[in-house]
Amino acid sequence: MPEFICRTCGTQYATTESPPSRCAICDEERQYIPETGQAWTTMEALRLSYRIGYRQYEPALLGLGMEPSFAIGQRALLVRHPEGNILWDAVSLVDDAAVTIVNALGGVRAIAISHPHYYSSMVEWSRAFGGVPVYVHAGDRQWCQRPDAAIRHWDGDRLTLADGVTLLHAGGHFAGATILHWRDGSAGRGALLTGDTIQVAGDRRTVSFMYSYPNFIPLPSSAIERIGALTAPLAFETVYGAWWDKYIPAGAHAVVQRGIERYLRVLSSR
Ligand SMILES: [Zn+2]
Repeated sequence: MPEFICRTCGTQYATTESPPSRCAICDEERQYIPETGQAWTTMEALRLSYRIGYRQYEPALLGLGMEPSFAIGQRALLVRHPEGNILWDAVSLVDDAAVTIVNALGGVRAIAISHPHYYSSMVEWSRAFGGVPVYVHAGDRQWCQRPDAAIRHWDGDRLTLADGVTLLHAGGHFAGATILHWRDGSAGRGALLTGDTIQVAGDRRTVSFMYSYPNFIPLPSSAIERIGALTAPLAFETVYGAWWDKYIPAGAHAVVQRGIERYLRVLSSR
């Protein structure tokens, strides 16, 4: 029996004989079911038509994502760390080539996920590297579709995964939305891995925030203020967002603070 994968959001579900009737993550106000209807695939089928592509952003930071693009075009990041590598977010496909390549780079010590639109095949990625823990904030517990002993629902505001690698609970887009601060990223100036909790905008010079991106639902000022208070004390030069080309290579701390100020200014104007 397979673990069906939603074609729209890329989430892999628990083992079932036939596909679930609906994808709980898509059939919700932040996502959508396409006009053509709910569609499913399997890992076996994905392996026939897709592969993993790579991009090295920094010597110790590798992006990996499916080619051609699948679901919402998720891209994961491998933070190479002396204590063991951290996989930030995941994608729906796990193939032998990716496992061989990542193992040659030292394997994976832990997986951390920003929010439910990046759950994809996180359990399969864990199993490919010996069942390493998958850190998902407890605020999003209800969205996990494939329960597994590897999933650790962490609670609270921050969690240290390795020296200089810290998960921070940001909220906003999802109740449990998480960002990752990597102290040694960007040549020691610090990097912030944000998924789309802090969204790198189309101009790649600003950031913005939404409760739903496809359905254009904004966030209240309280959520933006919380993200502002969380990020202001952090040292970071670079922000890596949710997709291949969505990153701000330099001056990102000021960019994030300006993005927060702009959003709050718009909300308070009449
Ligand atoms: Zn879905």
